[in-house]
Amino acid sequence: MNYPAEAISEKAEAAARAYFQKNLLDWHAGHSRPMPWKGERDPYKVWLSEIILQQTRVEQGLPYFEKFVAAYPTVERLAAAPLDAVLKLWEGLGYYSRARNMHATALHIATERGGRFPDTYAGLRALKGVGDYTAAAIASFAFDLPYAVLDGNVYRVLARFFGIDTPTDTPAARKQFAGLAQQLLDPARSGACNQAIMDFGATQCTPQQPACVPCPLRPHCAAFHSNRVPLLPRRSKTPEKRQRFFAYAVFYHRGMVWVGQRHDKDIWQNLYEFPRLDLPEAPADTASLPPLLLAKFFPAGPPEGTVLRGISNTYRQTLSHRIVNAVFCEFDLPDSIEVADFQENKLEMFRQIEQFKLKKILAIPRIIDWFWRGKDVTLKLN
Ligand code: SF4
Repeated sequence: MNYPAEAISEKAEAAARAYFQKNLLDWHAGHSRPMPWKGERDPYKVWLSEIILQQTRVEQGLPYFEKFVAAYPTVERLAAAPLDAVLKLWEGLGYYSRARNMHATALHIATERGGRFPDTYAGLRALKGVGDYTAAAIASFAFDLPYAVLDGNVYRVLARFFGIDTPTDTPAARKQFAGLAQQLLDPARSGACNQAIMDFGATQCTPQQPACVPCPLRPHCAAFHSNRVPLLPRRSKTPEKRQRFFAYAVFYHRGMVWVGQRHDKDIWQNLYEFPRLDLPEAPADTASLPPLLLAKFFPAGPPEGTVLRGISNTYRQTLSHRIVNAVFCEFDLPDSIEVADFQENKLEMFRQIEQFKLKKILAIPRIIDWFWRGKDVTLKLN
């Protein structure tokens, strides 16, 4: 009997999907990564782990998950915590909007839903800070709902195994990959299927140097057999990161420093930083920065006896869409003056804090943490 070409191709595709699904689950039976939230059915803990793992490696997120569960074992406890305390616990994990959204969602669940998480995909997707991926993960892990996850790992594994070269940063790819991932999901084992493909992408079919030789999918992997493993997945463009340039003034006075909280709709919202000057471009010479900072914060001239302690090297932190460059200029203000009384200083927006307490009680951006490392210890001993 002769089959039309489309029917043969459809049969071949169905066979490839069945092969992929079976071999992936078999592989996972012996290679599941042990993680404290695996097998967890409490939607609060599943949600917590998924928010922490957004844009974060498992090794980095794991201690944070444990700290949060210990500090806030229920969604009500998290909702009752002050935002500053949540940000402090989150410190070092980056993407602080996740912590703010997490706190807002905890408040919503605790006060408006009697502590119960939604048990539908749409209900989960409507929560602040929960996108398609996180909603599918919580729906499948906590409620056994048949929603396939789609993240960087899934794109990579599917692009390679099925030989798909549609650029993954396009709406067409999103539709194509989401449809395929959904077809590959066994509705009776949706959580296991999602976990398997994520673990496979993270440990076997990795971005660099995937372990193709011992890979159980290799016999039918399209990328492997066409020598395209390093070429897939494809992207149409790599967005260029915007550069930001900050000059910070670290004013020391009677064992205190000035810090302010960031409130703008900008990076690091709600975190604390030193008085800052935004620069339009990289300074040609960092020696030009101390007079600029003094002019900004003491427009009538700095208190007599102010001494420049030093100018740091340029610190650089890479964020998702930006690169932040920061130079720290340290000044000693004379102990003899009351700065609050000093005419026309522009430090009223800031608060003073003991130097050794800065890192202990306030959430600060990582770049400031790098600069500040060791200073609190030294200063405490002085
Ligand atoms: S053979 Fe290599 S590229 Fe293909 S699925 Fe396995 S690890 Fe990934």
